[in-house]
Amino acid sequence: MKPSELAPPKAANLFHKATQLIQEIHGVCRFPINVDEMAKGAAELFQWKDPITDIIPVSLDGFEGMLAGNDERSKWMIAYNDSLTSNGRIRFTKAHELGHYMLHRDRQERFMCSKEDMLAWDEGKNIEAEADKFASHLLMPIDDFRQQFNGDINFDVFSHCADRYQVSLTAAILKWLSYTEEKAVLIVSKDGYMDWASSSNAAKKSGAYFKTKGNVIEVPEGTLASSTDIQEDRNGRGVPARKWFEHADSNADLTEMKIFSKQYDCTMTVLLLPKFLDCWKPKEWD
Ligand SMILES: [Zn+2]
Repeated sequence: MKPSELAPPKAANLFHKATQLIQEIHGVCRFPINVDEMAKGAAELFQWKDPITDIIPVSLDGFEGMLAGNDERSKWMIAYNDSLTSNGRIRFTKAHELGHYMLHRDRQERFMCSKEDMLAWDEGKNIEAEADKFASHLLMPIDDFRQQFNGDINFDVFSHCADRYQVSLTAAILKWLSYTEEKAVLIVSKDGYMDWASSSNAAKKSGAYFKTKGNVIEVPEGTLASSTDIQEDRNGRGVPARKWFEHADSNADLTEMKIFSKQYDCTMTVLLLPKFLDCWKPKEWD
């Protein structure tokens, strides 16, 4: 089995089969996944001769993580930026680099990965998106993840997932967005401007998305996100859909929820749209 022959979810699944086996034998909880143990045990598990031998924090200017082989590529090292303070982000970075090891190490001897690379989940078929997909499947297996959602969608359930899998709140929300049939949007903003945003497929299809890459987009007035009085509303409240999406085809409200992250000095907003809502600009007829 060559690394390049594996699909990211399949590669992650191989690990889960192994951990399930361990769980059955020892009766221990599978979560949170022990990334270090998996990374260092991968070569033995798959009978490869080039193991990951070190996982260390180093000073990586401008990068979150790195996978590097020695000259003979007989062993590999995972490094993560020593300035990272969030346990969730460190774990995701390690899992992402393990993804490169599992899937791409026959193509390159060194992988340098930025913060943007860690958020490239739905950017089609490139190695960064594949490593993210692998990390997402490894840390938050879809079957278990879905089981956590059997009631209302709010920041409490996202926080519960972040705790359960020891990932960042962002990673837990992106995971949910990757499969949900809800029309939902995550927006991370700073000082009244969007830093980045991500939409579920259903939201994208109805025109509810923000192109933040290369664009300066202000957080619209009259929204919960723009309010300086309300720093947090974990359950969300009704906000006119047109405040966020000027072409929304109805006067309906969407549900907007918000938290403020002191650690990153940013506001996280989740919008839940009514299923029927369409946000495309109406076509102009001749
Ligand atoms: Zn990468």
